[in-house]
Amino acid sequence: MSAISGEEFDLLVIGGGITGCGVARDAAMRGLRVVLVERDDFASGTSGRSSRLVHGGIRYLEHGQLHLVRESIRERETLLRIAPHLVEPLAFTWPIYRGARVGKLKLSAGLFLYQLMSLGKARAFAMLDAAATLGRESELSSAGLTGGAVYYDARTDDARLTIVNAIAAEQNGAVVSNHTRVTDVIRHGAKAVGAMVVGQYSGESSEVRARAIVSATGVWEKQREQRAHQRHRGSKGVHIAVPRERVGNHDAITMISSVDARVMFCLPAGLQTIIGTTDTWTDESPESVHPTASDVDYLLRSANSYFPRAELTLDDVVSAWAGIRPLASAQSGNPTAVSREHTISVDDGGIVHVTGGKLTTYRSMAAEIVDRVQEKLGKKVRAAKTDSVPLPGAKRATEIDRLQRDDRRLAQRLSPDLSYTGAHLVYGVTHEKAQTLSDLLIRRTPLAFETRDHGKSIAAHVAEIVAPLLGWNEPTKNARVREFEADIERMFTIGPT
Ligand SMILES: Cc1cc2nc3c(=O)[nH]c(=O)nc-3n(C[C@H](O)[C@H](O)[C@H](O)COP(=O)(O)OP(=O)(O)OC[C@H]3O[C@@H](n4cnc5c(N)ncnc54)[C@H](O)[C@@H]3O)c2cc1C
Repeated sequence: MSAISGEEFDLLVIGGGITGCGVARDAAMRGLRVVLVERDDFASGTSGRSSRLVHGGIRYLEHGQLHLVRESIRERETLLRIAPHLVEPLAFTWPIYRGARVGKLKLSAGLFLYQLMSLGKARAFAMLDAAATLGRESELSSAGLTGGAVYYDARTDDARLTIVNAIAAEQNGAVVSNHTRVTDVIRHGAKAVGAMVVGQYSGESSEVRARAIVSATGVWEKQREQRAHQRHRGSKGVHIAVPRERVGNHDAITMISSVDARVMFCLPAGLQTIIGTTDTWTDESPESVHPTASDVDYLLRSANSYFPRAELTLDDVVSAWAGIRPLASAQSGNPTAVSREHTISVDDGGIVHVTGGKLTTYRSMAAEIVDRVQEKLGKKVRAAKTDSVPLPGAKRATEIDRLQRDDRRLAQRLSPDLSYTGAHLVYGVTHEKAQTLSDLLIRRTPLAFETRDHGKSIAAHVAEIVAPLLGWNEPTKNARVREFEADIERMFTIGPT
């Protein structure tokens, strides 16, 4: 709070999802004095619940959204270049079955266009016959299989990509504060000149003054609009994680759901396969959005039709979670067809609002927003440098190794099958601004997604490890464990409706 109050910033960014963190980093790199506040943790909203793909969005071609595909492919290539430690190429096999909505001709034309848009930078796709398709992915159903294709996109760790942008903003001089909520906008006449913020744990409140404000609150923006009686709905997307050995996929699989003919994926993620996603309108609040039994059933049925030997059931589901897409337009019809493009608008008080977008395009979106902010501040528009400067974090593994060597107790695994250790937790607190058990077990490591109890059985042990670093006494430790249990219950419980 002392770093926030008593100074007029050039820019206040509200919201620490990928959009807000990307804007803060870009603005700080262009020399603006920036403060970012996030009500919970970085990536605790939609940015930590995505399909974790950095992709051109092959399916958008069907909807004629060529501009979005072109931008997404360009950004995919940029992120592969500036963050090879966070964004890595991923091979996708797309099997084709007799009578499929997307047949061989349509798929090869689409992939040709997709390839063309990468201006020669992407690895070439290949069309396959049925035998070659099964050669790549032997567990796929062979009944009616006529062939397939292999093409390349990329994957990331969405929460880590977000956190790294927050850290990079801080390294460039921004004040970056998670667990700090904006409660009110301060106005001078009609003009917004700052905000009241309150610390989630200190309860301390403070004024932040800024010459420009960007609201990057994603689906929380919708709540504000709803309060202003504008109708807005988000689109809910559910994923499930199942043991990879049960599915037997090698790479990523692009599927056309047998239930409703939507494009969806089976994605390899370490020991697991992530199946997703759904796309349905929702009025749920982003804090309480959760998967339902019918969401999970839809995903299992869709995957089972491609991998019949798996015979996946609810018992195979290690974790299930939901997020809400902040769509920029459309209130009716099919949410799958709604563009994932973003809109930038300025309200009467001068606050810049961003809606929509994708994880993949966060960097170019941030550049566009910071251009607008510089103009608004009457500053000479300096070009963004975020397309060439590497994102930090490449030395994390080395640092974690060093911590483990220095203190052997920190080398102990938190869970027998997963590689996360006490050192990951210590690093999360000392280098990545983690303050709670959820910060550590959901976002600094994805352990909660990868264990059936979501980390509940190790929460007290984790609290012991980080308590000295975070200054927790016995009652605080207990309170943090209870809070974590409530968080995982809210996030991972499969509700009846
Ligand atoms: C199921 C699903 C799958 C997806 N898959 C992909 C994918 O594979 N690839 C891709 O490119 N995109 C994907 N997306 C889209 C992508 O995840 C989103 O576009 C992106 O994460 C939105 O980021 P954001 O920063 O705008 O919103 P958020 O991440 O929701 O961030 C908004 C933040 O604002 C904070 N906030 C709200 N109110 C306040 C306040 N008063 N004070 C301070 N902070 C506040 C919230 O806590 C939140 O952290 C997917 C989305 C979903 C739902």
